[in-house]
Amino acid sequence: MNVIPKIVKYPEKGSPCSIASNWVIGAPSALKKYALMLHADLKDILGLELKFNNSKTSEAIKLKLNTKACSEAESFNIAFYENSIELIGHDEQGLFYAIQTLKQVLLTHGNNIAACSIHSIKGYSWRGMHLDVSRHFFPIPYLKKLIDLMALFRLNRFHWHLTDDQGWRIESKKFPLLHKIGSCRDEEGYREPQYYTQEEIKDFVAYAEERFVEVIPEIDMPGHTQSVLAAYPNLSCTGEPTQTWTKWGVSEDVLCMGRDSTYEFVEELLNEVIPLFKSKYFHIGGDECPDTAWQSCPHCQKKKDELGLHDFRALQHQFTNFLSEVLKKHDKIMIGWDEITEGQLPDNTVVMAWRGNAGKAAVNAISQGKNVIFTPNSSYYLDWRQSDKEGEPGGFGVTDLKKVFQYDPQEIIKIEELQYTHNSTKSDLKLYFDINKCTDYFLGIQVNLWTERIHNEKELKYMLFPRLLALAEQADSRSTNKDYIEFSKRAEIIMEKVLNHYL
Ligand SMILES: [Zn+2]
Repeated sequence: MNVIPKIVKYPEKGSPCSIASNWVIGAPSALKKYALMLHADLKDILGLELKFNNSKTSEAIKLKLNTKACSEAESFNIAFYENSIELIGHDEQGLFYAIQTLKQVLLTHGNNIAACSIHSIKGYSWRGMHLDVSRHFFPIPYLKKLIDLMALFRLNRFHWHLTDDQGWRIESKKFPLLHKIGSCRDEEGYREPQYYTQEEIKDFVAYAEERFVEVIPEIDMPGHTQSVLAAYPNLSCTGEPTQTWTKWGVSEDVLCMGRDSTYEFVEELLNEVIPLFKSKYFHIGGDECPDTAWQSCPHCQKKKDELGLHDFRALQHQFTNFLSEVLKKHDKIMIGWDEITEGQLPDNTVVMAWRGNAGKAAVNAISQGKNVIFTPNSSYYLDWRQSDKEGEPGGFGVTDLKKVFQYDPQEIIKIEELQYTHNSTKSDLKLYFDINKCTDYFLGIQVNLWTERIHNEKELKYMLFPRLLALAEQADSRSTNKDYIEFSKRAEIIMEKVLNHYL
């Protein structure tokens, strides 16, 4: 069946199913919300406005929860019969996904479906998409559209990269210069503040939650903070005025790790920002932080010596530990980019493995007993070009649809295992290379969309699709689908009939 992610299908006896205007939608009152959703979708796709009636009418679309028929969390079944359709979810999330899948079926097959039943496949718990709104800002109504599309393909984690050298995007009542100054840069078209108010953030988080998408904010620290220093220069090592960055790359202007005022600022800021979000996770970045400013800073030097640390990278690790302590007070689990694995990781940490094929970082994290999200730049960075054709937008290398589809964390870990056992005799680490044990630490997979070269919604759509479909397919089958030809045909149909309908 032409849906993404793939489902398992069994034929049923009887004539094809075709929804007619005399059909009703039947759902117990506890599921009314989903009946209303389905009603709106059927009106949109088929132009039919079905009535609600939960009596035993035969010509009906019936919504149910059943933990026996669908034993796994988030799972669903759909049965298409001549005079009825049954949508059964293990839980509300499963039922919601059944509706999303029915939408795809109606758009790709029309209102004439051979009698059959279809079942979902159990996926990774983390099925993610990241978006950088610092380099280029995208307004909430557009982000809501992206959430709808994520939900349509059963993606469930939106990683919101809200701050970077080139722009701070969160309203702060305690430190208002962050959004007043840090959200502008001295460049044509970017001189006016562009940020999300706290009300907008809360509204967006609630919108996503209704669609079973968890919003994970990222405040990148201690590097990627030039927009913070533009607002509050006293947080840098030199304390000299600076501006929100107008270049791409990695700025050497970073938070001073030596002064107490940095730690006080960060804690107060986190105390303000954390309650805007509901996810149990909070991303603190931690990547690509040059130590050049620290090396010539008397405060950083002094702190390093006082703590008896051997280098400035260790000074950054103690800052990461400090962040972890702040997050713990709010009951949050810390996520960081894989640079944080270069030190001993605090307990409540998840690693986002991004460099290269992500294998090394994943092994470093797993060997410390930490969970991993695979987001390798070589396969899942959607700011990379989709082909080597002249004029193809994007930067860096080529990551085509096939490359996204073929990435498999299990295979990556097997390759690491071979290299590791060849080079090492340490038995404690070897334990984690048992692939069966290893996969317990795989939270899931995620594509990242950095927006240095993405200026508007049209460009964003081009970079996102169809590659997001490959991620969604593999996220839901735990990277087990190897049939690229079959997938690519399905993706083409989805692009034409589903995405053209919604975007
Ligand atoms: Zn310093």
